[in-house]
Amino acid sequence: MTSISNLPATARMMERLEKLALDTDEPGKLTRLYLSTAHRKAVDTVMGWFSEAGLTPSLDAVGNISARFEGKTPGLPALIIASHIDTVRDAGKYDGNLGVLAGLAVVEELRRLGETLPFAIEVIAFGDEEGVRFPITMSGSRAVAGRFNMAALDGADAQGITMRAAMETFGLDTAAIGAIARDPKHVLAYIELHIEQGPVLEAANQPLGVVTAIASIQRFAATIKGEAGHAGTVPMPYRHDALAAAAEMILAVERIANGRKGMVGTVGIIGAQPGAVNVIPGDVNFSLDLRAPNDEDRNAGVAEVLAALEAIAKKRGVTLTLSSGYEDKAALCHPAIQQGLAEAITGLGFEPIALPSGAGHDAMSFEGFCPMGMLFLRCKGGISHNPAESITPEDADIALAAMLAFVRKLDPAKLRG
Ligand SMILES: [Zn+2]
Repeated sequence: MTSISNLPATARMMERLEKLALDTDEPGKLTRLYLSTAHRKAVDTVMGWFSEAGLTPSLDAVGNISARFEGKTPGLPALIIASHIDTVRDAGKYDGNLGVLAGLAVVEELRRLGETLPFAIEVIAFGDEEGVRFPITMSGSRAVAGRFNMAALDGADAQGITMRAAMETFGLDTAAIGAIARDPKHVLAYIELHIEQGPVLEAANQPLGVVTAIASIQRFAATIKGEAGHAGTVPMPYRHDALAAAAEMILAVERIANGRKGMVGTVGIIGAQPGAVNVIPGDVNFSLDLRAPNDEDRNAGVAEVLAALEAIAKKRGVTLTLSSGYEDKAALCHPAIQQGLAEAITGLGFEPIALPSGAGHDAMSFEGFCPMGMLFLRCKGGISHNPAESITPEDADIALAAMLAFVRKLDPAKLRG
């Protein structure tokens, strides 16, 4: 391990992360939903810091904050450094917020040293990544990449407030959403620093990881129809217990995912009917979430899981119905960005751990739009979406140093073609 660079921007970033966590919709915990009062406060807070850094921030029609730090000549294509400032309920301080303030810290450090680059840097704070409030996620980054789905404006939150109405209350002009889209000719690349949200870096004893791809995902809703009956009178051989079938299926999902490199499979919701202590469960429904680092592996894994589930249903004399829900292709990180980030980490004396992202991120919105990449930072216990989320100032400093090394060495010519 090498020494710490102790960048002035690191201490400031860590202080800002503490302060930003105070802009919350729920006193005593951090909950900052898209277009909420806390989001409005956070916009003012973050725009103030952008201005302090010498930038001229603007708020766009979906509530993203953005500002450019010009390169050697004004108007050069920009490297976007971004993440999100919305949170889940009872969140940690670093998910999203870290990536935004790290982008700002990179610019502050360059300005402090009087450096300019052969490209511009655009720092963006997306307003909606988590998708907690409305039935859409990543609307901020999608708008920037020209992929905002206008039909989402009619989606409503739990109180029945549509996204369109919430935007109007927030002071945003929905008619201007289309104009947010950047021209890909003016975007050099997209990078995002994010906490890992998993235990890989901690286990490897390394602060930083280079993301290879954002996982390919497919979700299903499963329904099993068995036969309800009296828990005392139906002998075991005559049963068609839907919950016992589900149990065997869940273990099959676990076994198959375990046997495939990089694949993860999760049953996170399960319900049994009629739900009585003395009744054999006749109906069960459960969720199924399957992910893999690329689409081929995901498709192959999904096929194996579905075949195994069908076989279990057949063997047990129950009917299995599967409906396919959310699906997203893998978003591959650009090889030149992966290489540049890995070299930056190596240059600091650390080992760049290559790892896929099992979670979705704003970076996905830029797949096919511009070269994109992600840097993961070790977080304590791999815990996220939880107030226990934790990073060290030393690791944050290493992350900033790596990002600075990356931007200083980034050759725009390598990202074209
Ligand atoms: Zn996040």
